[in-house]
Amino acid sequence: MSPFDHLHLDIPRSNKPRLVIIGGGFGGIQIAKSLRKANFQIVMLDRHNYHTFQPLLYQVATAGLEPDSIAESLRKIFDNHKDFYFRMARVTGLNPEKKTITTLVGELSYDLLVIANGSKTNYFGNRELYERTFPMKQVPQALDLRSHMLQNFEQTVMTQDLREKDRLTNFVIVGGGPTGVEVAGALGELKKHVLPKDYPDIDFNIMNLHLVDGGPRLLAGMSDKSSKKALEYLNKFDVKVSLNTVVKDYDGQKVTLSDGTVIPAKTVIWAAGVTGNIIDGLPESSLHKGRIKVDEYSRVVGVDDVFAIGDIAGMLSDEFPNGHPMVAPVAIQQAQALGKNLVHQSTADWKSFKYRDKGSMATIGRNKAVVDLPKFHFGGFFAWMVWMFVHLMSIVGFRNRLVTLSNWVWNYMTYDRGTRLIIRTFIRKKSHKPSDSL
Ligand SMILES: Cc1cc2nc3c(=O)[nH]c(=O)nc-3n(C[C@H](O)[C@H](O)[C@H](O)COP(=O)(O)OP(=O)(O)OC[C@H]3O[C@@H](n4cnc5c(N)ncnc54)[C@H](O)[C@@H]3O)c2cc1C
Repeated sequence: MSPFDHLHLDIPRSNKPRLVIIGGGFGGIQIAKSLRKANFQIVMLDRHNYHTFQPLLYQVATAGLEPDSIAESLRKIFDNHKDFYFRMARVTGLNPEKKTITTLVGELSYDLLVIANGSKTNYFGNRELYERTFPMKQVPQALDLRSHMLQNFEQTVMTQDLREKDRLTNFVIVGGGPTGVEVAGALGELKKHVLPKDYPDIDFNIMNLHLVDGGPRLLAGMSDKSSKKALEYLNKFDVKVSLNTVVKDYDGQKVTLSDGTVIPAKTVIWAAGVTGNIIDGLPESSLHKGRIKVDEYSRVVGVDDVFAIGDIAGMLSDEFPNGHPMVAPVAIQQAQALGKNLVHQSTADWKSFKYRDKGSMATIGRNKAVVDLPKFHFGGFFAWMVWMFVHLMSIVGFRNRLVTLSNWVWNYMTYDRGTRLIIRTFIRKKSHKPSDSL
């Protein structure tokens, strides 16, 4: 018997066809907005009751922003949409022959289904790394990392064991993409400007930051110029970058790299890649390398009335033989294109999807970022301003933008971070005595 047996999705049928969206991420929100005035009843399901702005998760993990400023309530986003239903429920199965989906709180039928449930951290099947390293894909994971990191420093103050101090203050970041580079930069800044004020009794020369990547350069998806600049910026923060190197083993106390290096570390941040969040139920022929195969109209190959957009969708083409990059603009543009197509009665009027790549960027600490626009690439202070502006304008919710901006201004002016709290999940004592509550 499941603990949810007494719950029901309880969505009344209206006279409009029902379009079910799995996931309130960038793609899910955009498709629901695009179809607001169309003739559909819209049902959105997400395992969380909020949308997460993942590009700034690393700032939550490194005590730069509160989680509330990068997350927005899904109910609030759609509170004035008509014939729209949100249910917080994890989808566990797809049944395309019956045109239903299975959730932890029961089944739901659909006329059209849009799968927009994104991706998950890819551990390449390594159970030990899954259990011992820190992922950064969801708000609770970023908060867990923040608390763990600060607990490490609290313990460093209280131990005399030099090897333990080493393990507590070393950080290994795996993955030299934008997330890994941004985390390394943020930790470098914490080490230089923030932590020494909080922990005057720690000699921060013992804190070592390592960034490990299997490829020959950082930011592999960006220009050569940006890769080199990113490396130069990280060197200024004393981040030790190991390229063409992979993690061979991690026992929770020390990391062994493929070049034989052993790094004592209690914190390994896993930013080495993501893979599609596949939900059971689609035929094997509809899947390709961890993503759902779709045609140029986002229709899932081999099943009727099912679409997939964003990170989960593998729209294979000559230009993108393994699908589009897993970034927010792809999810948003695919949702916009699908929304426009779905309002037409006849598929003869549908337009195929064409990705407009407006560029990519990454920041490495204060005043430093790299930006690749289609025609030119630049770095430094101006790039950092561009990075901040683009991210600020992309955050969902006006209040969140305001809070983020004020936090950034505060951090910049004071060389401080306002959110260095260790907050752990409340665990109820198993043996509770009435006197405990006094
Ligand atoms: C740390 C980090 C940094 C990033 N930085 C950038 C960046 O700087 N620029 C950029 O363009 N992109 C960046 N990305 C990538 C970007 O966030 C994704 O490409 C984008 O979120 C994809 O949108 P989506 O709608 O496909 O999925 P998501 O936005 O991931 O949304 C998926 C939603 O589905 C829900 N869900 C998942 N499984 C289920 C289930 N079984 N049942 C119910 N709900 C479910 C999730 O809770 C989530 O709300 C970053 C990603 C990460 C992790």
